[in-house]
Amino acid sequence: MANILDGKKLAQEIELILQQTIESGLEVAKRSPGLAVIRVGNDPASGVYVNYKEKACQRIGVKSFAKHLKEDISLEELIEIIKGLNDEDKVDGILLQLPLPSHLNEACLLSRINPDKDADGLHPLNLGLLIKGEKGPRSCTPAGVMALLKRNHIEIEGKRAVVVGRSILVGKPMALMLEAANATVTIAHSRTKDLPSLTREADLIVVAAGKPYLIGEEHIRENSIVIDVGIHRLPSVKKNLQKSEKTKLCGDVKIFEIENKVAAYSPVPGGVGPMTVTMLLANTVDRWQKHCGLPLTISHLLP
Ligand code: NAD
Repeated sequence: MANILDGKKLAQEIELILQQTIESGLEVAKRSPGLAVIRVGNDPASGVYVNYKEKACQRIGVKSFAKHLKEDISLEELIEIIKGLNDEDKVDGILLQLPLPSHLNEACLLSRINPDKDADGLHPLNLGLLIKGEKGPRSCTPAGVMALLKRNHIEIEGKRAVVVGRSILVGKPMALMLEAANATVTIAHSRTKDLPSLTREADLIVVAAGKPYLIGEEHIRENSIVIDVGIHRLPSVKKNLQKSEKTKLCGDVKIFEIENKVAAYSPVPGGVGPMTVTMLLANTVDRWQKHCGLPLTISHLLP
């Protein structure tokens, strides 16, 4: 029977450590950690994610400096807001919620975040540190995947890993983190030919393609490990449902086809999603310890 990699449970365990870390550091630091999540416009999925993040901050004692900005904000105005947060001593971490409206240049804005406050590790300097294998804030979703694998004692060294997806947010940093942990990594993307024969070679597959049910039985080798990063809200096929039951969450993987074939998999919901939020908190608390001159006690939680 496959091992279900329970991200919800691990996220709760790490949150408890973070909460205790904050409580024990408050006397010296004289302030709580601060996180600023910047949301632009009214994308409903972003609204849900930002809400999760704010609630998680409240649970563990991180002060939220959230900014919800109008859809048509100009690049210059947004740069000024980022500058203000860079200069605000009470803010330890800044996250720009993606995607942004199309008139805003994502790369330009990410590079304006102070790399030392870069809570999602997407500043070019921090991506450079990741490539070099040096310490620095790491992108939250792949960092969450690494924590999930580590906590479940899944050996990465020497494994053949395939990452499906090459986005700067998930796929690329994921591949680099696995490679840093001594896996042999292949990246697949939308132009990859014959995906099933590639993924069937893998001991470990991380799927971040953003395509519901892309990966099925034909893609998977017996006893492999499958991490499903995708998250989608689909209409439910069941009839006569209450309003709240009319949609259901699914990932990029047909778990129902592979659950009896693999050694371990991460479910959707309850796998990578909760870990992403927790790693955002972990990055913020780590930055806070650094900014307040406290010992860095949670580095072992970060890849
Ligand atoms: P993206 O659209 O930026 O990138 C998708 C990548 O998948 C691209 O590199 C593309 O080349 C590749 N791809 C698309 N179709 C493919 C195919 N048929 N075969 C192989 N590769 C293909 O998306 P993203 O931001 O990387 O996010 C990916 C998924 O992960 C989305 O569903 C997103 O909602 C989800 N996500 C979840 C979390 C979480 O916390 N669980 C966090 C971030 C993203």
